[in-house]
This record gives sequence, C-alpha cells and structure tokens, in this order.
Amino acid sequence: MHRLVPDDGPLSARIVVIGEAPGRWEDLKLRPFVGPSGGRLEEWVHEVGLTRAQMYVTNVVPYRPTANEIRTVPKQELEDWITELHTRLAKLTDPWVLVPTGDTALFALTGKKGIMKWRGSLLEYQDQRGRVIKVIPTLHPAATFRSPSLERRCRFDWARIASDSQFRELRRPERSLQIRPTLADVQDLLSDARKRPNGALAIDIETPRKLSLVDKKLKSGKVKVVRQYGAARVVCVAFSLTPDSSLSIPTTMSYWGASRDVVTVWGLIRALCALPIPKVLQNGLFDRFYLQADHQVEVVNHLYDTMDMHHAWDSTDEHSLAYIASTWTREPYWKDDGKEDDEYGDPAALGDWDTFWEYNARDAAVTRELADPLRQALIEDKKWELYCEHYPPLREPLLDLMLRGIRRDPTACASLVTKLKSDLIAGRASIEHLVKAKLVELRLLPADDSPPLDAAWADFSLFGKKSISPVKLQRYLYEALRLPKRTRKNKATGERAVTTDEVALRGLAITYPHKCREVIGAVLNFRRTDKLTSFVSDGVPDADGYVRCSYRRATETHRLSSSKNPRRTGQNLQNVDRDVRSVYVPDPQTIFVECDLSQAEDRVVKAYTGDPRLIAEARAHPAEFDTHTNNARAIFGVETPTKDQRYLGKKVVHASNYGMAGKKLSEELLKENDVRTPDECQRLIDRRLELAPAILQWQQRTRMEVMRTRRLMNSWGWTIDFKYERLGEELYRRAYAWRPQSDIGILTNLWGLIPVWQAIQERKRRIGGPWARTRIALQVHDALVACAPPEVAYDVAVLMRECLERPHEYGGVELTIPIEVKIGTSWAMTTGWKRFPEREAFDAAVRGLNEGGAGR
Ligand code: URA
Repeated sequence: MHRLVPDDGPLSARIVVIGEAPGRWEDLKLRPFVGPSGGRLEEWVHEVGLTRAQMYVTNVVPYRPTANEIRTVPKQELEDWITELHTRLAKLTDPWVLVPTGDTALFALTGKKGIMKWRGSLLEYQDQRGRVIKVIPTLHPAATFRSPSLERRCRFDWARIASDSQFRELRRPERSLQIRPTLADVQDLLSDARKRPNGALAIDIETPRKLSLVDKKLKSGKVKVVRQYGAARVVCVAFSLTPDSSLSIPTTMSYWGASRDVVTVWGLIRALCALPIPKVLQNGLFDRFYLQADHQVEVVNHLYDTMDMHHAWDSTDEHSLAYIASTWTREPYWKDDGKEDDEYGDPAALGDWDTFWEYNARDAAVTRELADPLRQALIEDKKWELYCEHYPPLREPLLDLMLRGIRRDPTACASLVTKLKSDLIAGRASIEHLVKAKLVELRLLPADDSPPLDAAWADFSLFGKKSISPVKLQRYLYEALRLPKRTRKNKATGERAVTTDEVALRGLAITYPHKCREVIGAVLNFRRTDKLTSFVSDGVPDADGYVRCSYRRATETHRLSSSKNPRRTGQNLQNVDRDVRSVYVPDPQTIFVECDLSQAEDRVVKAYTGDPRLIAEARAHPAEFDTHTNNARAIFGVETPTKDQRYLGKKVVHASNYGMAGKKLSEELLKENDVRTPDECQRLIDRRLELAPAILQWQQRTRMEVMRTRRLMNSWGWTIDFKYERLGEELYRRAYAWRPQSDIGILTNLWGLIPVWQAIQERKRRIGGPWARTRIALQVHDALVACAPPEVAYDVAVLMRECLERPHEYGGVELTIPIEVKIGTSWAMTTGWKRFPEREAFDAAVRGLNEGGAGR
C-alpha cells in the first residue's frame, strides 16, 4: 500500500519546487525532499540566500514508486498524476517561479524532454486559471550523486532562480534576427561593420549535409523513398555586430537563383571576414576550416573565441555554446531548432529554411553576446593578458595543421592491411580450434563426428558476423567454462553489467590460467589486430590521400585533443598506434623531423618536489642519465635492469608521481600484457616512494593547498578551480597531475608549435625555396613533427630546439627540458638522437634515409 506524501510549504510561496517522487526518507517522514536529495537541495538553496520555508515543495507522483523507479508507475497513472499536479498548482496563491527538477517534472510541466538541455532556461507555463508563470528547470539533486561535476550547473540555476524570484517577467533577450537578405542588405552590413573597427563581429556558419530523396527498390519489388546524404557544405553564414541583432546570409543557389549573385555574396562574406574588426566565433576553427577550404575565406583578427574564453575562465567545465549560453545569458535553449536539419539533411527538402536561418542568426547573436561578459570575467580574474598570449596565436598554426593533414601511403596501407588480414584469418582459425578442443574436453561436444552431447553447443563459434561477438564470448566464458562473471560499472549510469573487456579478460587469465589463458591470449590478440585493421583500412584519408583531424584546446590540462575533422572525415591523430605509424609519410620530397620533450612531466614533478637529488635528476641530460634505468635499478635492486624492468620502472614512476593505487597500475599493466597482482604493484609503488619520499611530501603539499584554497596555479599563471567539486582521493589525484601536465601541455604550444610555426612562415616568405615546402604536420602529446626537405631538415630541428629548450621556473626551480630528435621517411621514425646531433652526423643520417627512398 502506497503512503501519500503531502506537499510542503505555504500556498502563498513565490517559488515552487517540483520533484519526481518521494524516496525512502520521504516515505518514512511523509515530507518531500527530506533525504539525501533534500539535503543537497537545501545546501544550494541556502547558498543563494533562500530558505526552504519560502518555497512550496511538491512531487509529480506523491508516493514512493516500487524500487524507487518512476518507470514502474503505469503510464496512464502517471498521466493522471500530471493532471492532478496542474490542479494543485492552480490552487497556489500567486507563484512567480516554478522549478521542475529533473526529467519527469520538466515533462509534466512543459511537455519538454531533456533536462540537460533545458535546465537554466526561462520558460513559461500557463496554469488552469490562465495565469502565465515563469519556469526555470534544473537538474534533480540525485543526478549530482552519480556525476558530481553536474553540481556547478545546479548552483548556477539556483542563483538564477533566487534572483528571478524577485520579479515576475521573463526578461528574455530581445533580438532582431534578420533572414532572407538582399545583396543590398549584406552590403549595408559590410558598411556598418567598417564603421566599428573597435567593436566585435560574430560569425557562425551552418553545414548540413545535402539531402536527396531517392527511390530504392526493395527485395520484394516494392519501391521505397529513402534519404541519401551528400557532403556537408556551407549553406549560410550569420554575422552579428551587437547582441540584439544579427543577419543570416544564405549561400545557396536555391536562395539567390543566379550563380552571379552567389559569387557576389561570397565576395561580401569574404570582405566581412577580412575586416580588421575583432571577430567572435564559437570553436571557430570548425567554421574557418570550411570557409577557408571550400571558399578561400580568411578570417582576420579572430581575437575572441567563446569556447576558448570559457576554457580560459574555467578549464574544468563544459564549453559548448548551448551550455555557456545557459549560464552566461538569458537565452533559453534553442539548439534543437536547427539540429534536426543539421543532422538529418537539407532543410530545403524539409521545407523550413526560415527556421534554420533564424537558428543560424541566433547562434551568431548569442556568440556575440557572450564575448562581452567572458572578456569582462577574464579581465576581472586577471586572465585576459594570458588569454591573448596563449589562445589567439595558436589558432593559425592549428588551422594550418587541420587543413593540410598528413599523407597516408596507399601502397604501405594496402600491404599492411593484407598482412593484418592474414593474421586475422590465422587468429580466427586458432581461436576456433582452441574453443572446440575445450568444449570437447568439457564434454559439451563429442570428440568424433557423432551428434553433439549438448545441442546448445553444436556449431558454437565465438564469432559473430564480423568479429568476436561479446555475447558469445560471455556465453563461452561464463556458461561453458563456468568462470565467475566479471562486471564493470557503467560510468554514466552507475549500473554494473557483465563484461568481457580487456581488464576482465586478463584478470580471468591470471586467476584461471589452465582454463582460459590460452584462449584469452588469442582473443585479445585478435581484437587488437582487428582494431588495427579497421584503423588502417577505414576510409579516413580525403581524396588527395591526406588524413585530416581537428585540434582543440579544451581539456582540463590545456593539452590539445584531436578528433575527426569538421567534415567528419579523418581521425584522431594523437592516438595512432605505434604499430601502424609506418603508413603515414611526409609530403613529397621531404622527410619527417620530430622533436620530443624528453621525460617532460617526470622532470617537472621532480622540480616541484624541491628535493636537491631529484632536481639534479630533473636537470640531467637524457644522454648522460637515464632516469628510467636508474629508477628500475633502485626499485628492483639490480645493477643492470632488463628492458622489461626499465619499462616497468617507468610505469611505476608515473603511477607513484600521480598517487595511483596498485590496483589501477595492475589494470594498466594488464592492458600491455604484463600480469601483476595489485599487491605486487602496490609494493613497487611504495618502494619508489620510499626511495623518493619528497614525491609524497609534494603530493601532501598539493593536497593541503587544494583543501585550503580549492585552487591550484601552474607555472604559466593558469589556475584550476575545484570549488564545485567534492574533496576526495580522485580529486587529489587529478590535482597532482594537473600542474605537470598543464605545464607541459602549454610549453609544447607556447614555446613549440606557435613560435616554430611562425618562424617557418617567416622563412617561407623571406627565403622561400625549400622553406616553402616546410611545415609542421603534427602535434602529438609532447612532440612536434615537421615535414622538411632534406636540405633544411637540420635547420628545422635547430629551430625547434631553440624554441623549446629554454629555462622556465617550476615552483621556483629553474629547469630546461631537453629535446630528443628523430627523423624518418615514415612516422615510424627510424633514426633518433638522445643528444642533439651535429649537422654532419644529422645530414649523414638524412642521406642514409634518402638512399632508402625519402619523400617519394
Ligand atoms: N526525490 C524527489 O523527486 N522528491 C522527493 O521528495 C525526494 C526525492
């Protein structure tokens, strides 16, 4: 029998909180929001100066559902409770703000789905008495138990709810979103923009894929109309000079009707983008990639990028336009207006270009609006100068890298694919053999051709249509072999499910070697080969044979991340497996020159400890002192460590620097086929920390700093704020890693990519010749890879060294991180030096490469 939990609070309240349904505590105490969710809600409410007594608190469903699951409430009953909620709301005296918390309440009140999208938006609700009441949805407090990082957005929302409860009106931004312009309108915009060199001009493009509806003949003979998508292309460009107005300019023939007009409009767009007025874009490298590649439009003075500015302001948060807008503007969520068109094809075919253009115009206006408060916030936080120094100069080099990409050798690819495919065939045969033999041994199959003993295992194979089937593998391991099920928690949902992931498989292989070690070894090998095969055979290169990616500086540690390029082709070029790098080759008539910061993070950690012995190690040259060998010597107590011990020593150092526990290290090692128990790993970590106690002391100092100030600063002046996060081991580990990782991430760009790229540009202009064919091709972790004609390859390496090898202070300790140089005719990089080579040795090695056929 369900116990009904009555609503709580005065009928005259201005703020009304609507939950989903009572939980265990509410059911016990017969009062809404008195359990853990209520506790968290009250924290946020107090923080913004409200009290619970000021609010009316209710739920969509008034009783605790079976198993605490709203899904168990029958649909019709839920609908009845929603009707009942509307009736209850109509009885309130004069509410000003309704706050649905979570998906169920949002849907009940507004019919909208997706609380993550709609939270923080200013919406309207008309009650049964015809009163129009403001609605500000927010997340359910329970969501933050599963994902603590969501808490900051709840706090933002509650701050908005508190201030908005002071007035009735919505106060949404008023914008004039202009669409369907004439050429004269665009010309007027250009004249306006010319008159405001000190303002800011926001730019945004839309790139839906072209949709055609084609007839498809089905097997049955019937004909069905199906959607077919072409390439993405720019269909409109919006500009906004002030937050209250913007203009979306179509660029399609279907709009202008004459190709002459399309050419003219692109000329005007080109002129707008070339004006000296500072530009504002959101993740503008995306837009600039299309503008430049397809229409030769250059964007001059891209000073503001709202994604970058938001990242500079708080690198730990999300940086999408919709999210930034939800916390920095009063624009309600609008992103679904255009999304459908962008995802599903051409709005022309769907018949609603106007909505699409308005969406485009709104994007630009919101982006323009954001530039002002973000700039102000950076100035107030004393980060504006840093932003100007670190972000805008990175854009031209990154755009260049994205546009040019890296060449893949089709012949090398084809032969590697052939080899990998034959490995797959052999791997499959061996797995089938092992599995069959085991099933026979278990007497699930007969040894000869007689009928199977258990029909369920007849014709059993681990393989599905394409590869190993996880379901069949589970069946084999957990039903045939009867191994205990391994589970893993899903990070997003928090639920545990049976798994056959790599760690689980390796764990089983260690614990039950006789039962499954061999088959698991074969399965893991097969999976890896399979992954490499699709990595090499996937159609990632563009028609010119180059693979292009996107780079973004949007990670917490300021390191660049990489993904497919804006056209959705290519691949992440920062995680290319070493075993397939040989298929990536330099531009014709050039070789690759790579400069890699040597053991950079470990050196920085040592500097931060302030310990004289560790500082001396941090300053040692890799050619004279190999820190990994030295550590392995100490950890394993041997004079001459083996190669494996050296490698393990390296992993142990990394783990101990960043507070990793033995269990995690053991899992990481398992992925590399090194089987060690968590206890053994913990002993190795402890041993390293005994030998270098200053590391532990440095971690303790970092931990105290986080506890005291909730903030850290790195050696370049950037800070990270943990004020919205709960203290705990996970946070401390992030804190230990943040300083060294961000120090090096920034160094690689600020002293590497930016000045090296600029110097190459300058030499291109001034000297030309071989410099005209020189460029940076990749930025991968701590390394830069250039394509250089052999005659300037050494000068390129010198340039990289001059830029990167400079002293910098880490926690008051001056340190120069040395670089190691490699060259190659493929990204496998066959020749390298720990000490920077003399020109003669270098050039001799280059000649050696060339004899092998450089830059064909
Ligand atoms: N969660 C809800 O949605 N309502 C309550 O009253 C308590 C927890």
